[in-house]
Amino acid sequence: MERKKNFFAGPSVLPVEVLEQMRDQMVEYNNQGISMVEASHRGGLFEDMYDECVALFKELLNVPEEYELYFLGGGATLQFAMIPMNFLRPNTVADYIKSGTWANKAAEDAELFGKVNYYYDGTANKFSSLPKASEVHPSANSSYLYLCSNETIGGIEWQDFPDTGDVPLIGDMSSDILSRPVPVEKFSMIYGGVQKNLGPAGATFIIMKKSLLEKQNPKLPAYMDYSKHSKEKGLYNTPPVFSIWGVKLVLDWIKKNGGAVGMQKRATEKSAILYDLIDSSSFFRSPVDPAYRSKMNIVFRLPNEDLEKQFVTEATKQGMLGLKGHRSVGGLRASVYNALPKEDVLYLAQFMKEFERKNG
Ligand SMILES: *Cc1c(COP(=O)(O)O)cnc(C)c1O
Repeated sequence: MERKKNFFAGPSVLPVEVLEQMRDQMVEYNNQGISMVEASHRGGLFEDMYDECVALFKELLNVPEEYELYFLGGGATLQFAMIPMNFLRPNTVADYIKSGTWANKAAEDAELFGKVNYYYDGTANKFSSLPKASEVHPSANSSYLYLCSNETIGGIEWQDFPDTGDVPLIGDMSSDILSRPVPVEKFSMIYGGVQKNLGPAGATFIIMKKSLLEKQNPKLPAYMDYSKHSKEKGLYNTPPVFSIWGVKLVLDWIKKNGGAVGMQKRATEKSAILYDLIDSSSFFRSPVDPAYRSKMNIVFRLPNEDLEKQFVTEATKQGMLGLKGHRSVGGLRASVYNALPKEDVLYLAQFMKEFERKNG
């Protein structure tokens, strides 16, 4: 089988070794006479794998002792509501950095539960830039400050993170988790859907400083209550077992390939291939502030929309999928997540040069 070159933004490319492992163990897991997806989530087979998965995730991201890590369902989107339900306290505000589609959606949900203060609003620059981390300060009566570390659609990524003192910092890292080391200790909560960089869709990872729970609102429906999940290490109800199993295998692959530092090196190399090409051409154009360019989602434009359409059609014919920009912004986007081989990026770069030669 000739595998497609997969530039989809999510769900997205997985390491082929992981897919092969899943195939080989789908019917029978480790000679146990049962598959992982048939086993009780309260039994040894699943729980042993789960505990290893959590421990490995913490190791790779360098998560300090006073944090817990578990998985929920509902996608990153459910967290947009759960965060304010749990942590936006009466008579306070929540600070949101309005940086693009995903942070803005989170803020819209927060507005249903209390007062939202927009520390920064990127509407005027079409969400092509971010505030300087050192200049971000939460409001005096802030329950938390919220940011999205990588705007998957806009293609901008925080390069370092604000110090918010006693005010909890909460980050959506759905699309750049484990693509680089991050200072977890600056955050009270980091979360994200796993389907961009960590595994098959289904699970959402939650990394939370245990002391954050002391600031929780009372009286929440069971599933919406982080304390309930915390007490049961994420196994309060049935977890997305298939997805978590996939995450465990992807984490093994990340570890084998140099951990967070190894992934950062890969991401830097791969994204530079495309950004260098874009910068050295007058045909391709990056709409994003160079200081905050994403190493995961490379957004670019051509001189007009007809050419962009033609680009996608011809790329698809050559086995490259997912290069169309998000329907809300148009243009083109190459998502180059951890598992995407460098050769596929080189192949795309070659195609881009050829396309410019013929149409430029
Ligand atoms: C994809 C994405 C989401 C939405 O994730 P779902 O799991 O589909 O709810 C949220 N935030 C970011 C940054 C994303 O990339």
